[in-house]
Amino acid sequence: MSALIDSYGRLIKDLRISITPRCNYKCSYCDPLGIIQKDPIGTVSVADIDNVLAAAVELGIESIRFTGGEPLLRQELPEMIHIAKQVYGIKDVAITSNASLLKRRLADLITAGLDRVNISFDAADPEVFSRITKGGNIKQVWQAIEAVQAAGLQPVKLNAVIMKDINDSEILGLAELSRELPYHIRFIEYMHLNNSDSESYFKNFVAGKDIKAKIEAEFGELTALDTDPSAPARLFKVANWAGAIGFINPVSEPFCGACSRMRLTSDAKLRPCLLTDREISVREALDSEKPVEAMIEMFLLAAHRKVKSGITSPVDRPRTMVSIGG
Ligand code: SAM
Repeated sequence: MSALIDSYGRLIKDLRISITPRCNYKCSYCDPLGIIQKDPIGTVSVADIDNVLAAAVELGIESIRFTGGEPLLRQELPEMIHIAKQVYGIKDVAITSNASLLKRRLADLITAGLDRVNISFDAADPEVFSRITKGGNIKQVWQAIEAVQAAGLQPVKLNAVIMKDINDSEILGLAELSRELPYHIRFIEYMHLNNSDSESYFKNFVAGKDIKAKIEAEFGELTALDTDPSAPARLFKVANWAGAIGFINPVSEPFCGACSRMRLTSDAKLRPCLLTDREISVREALDSEKPVEAMIEMFLLAAHRKVKSGITSPVDRPRTMVSIGG
């Protein structure tokens, strides 16, 4: 086994695999181009995922996160998880999901080998939640969150992208969920993957430090917890609360220097950096006679193409988060 190290000495150990660009929610920050219903469900097959994982494991990848779009829209998700966990023995196998379809499929996913779930949860108030997701039912999501907790998949991570005048009124309510519940409530800065004019982007942007200040003004000082330096979230705690509060600040405090990630998109492209539209099609490699060997070459090439730091000013992009995979 060799390691996947980029030109700046960063060890790549986390792979995010988007298995579909489609989503049943329509959050404006994620899919401003309305791509959801236009793209195919996802062209990476279970056999492709098997070959990708075989290569990834050879290169020392330790954690896999299946995402999308909404990964639960792919019926084959349990098979993919099974391959990652039980065939290749990946240490940490997770999904990122809006959890609307999670409750009834959770048992199958756990049997397949799922270790953890990250859940998008942009509001604690049912009406705000429904408005942001364009029809999402918070009750369904809560039931799934409770089922994940009951099943012992720890820690339950809830992610909220905060946008001014859209859900900044939810900051305290979301943070307060960690008072009684052992969840990680993570606030993510809104990134400019939105292809909209920069004026509206900046109008909606809220810096992580302002979210933190608001929480501290209400609940007292947050104490920093030890966190893996390559993890995007910095974690804190209100004294004596059960859970933690995290901040993911890619815009105001870019963490490219500690990046350990690479992405595979649902149309079979390796994307070395989230914020750089430099992708490598791996379709030919996956269809070749020796797909695993060919994929190892593709991973090495993609690692070589990782940039030191992603673009941080607003640009028009052919893809937004829903089709890249968050
Ligand atoms: N459908 C799943 C979900 O809702 O979690 C997985 C896909 S979604 C693209 C994954 C993550 O990307 C979510 O946590 C979402 O909040 C985040 N995300 C999407 N667009 C974003 C943006 N413009 N800025 C910051 N985070 C974003």
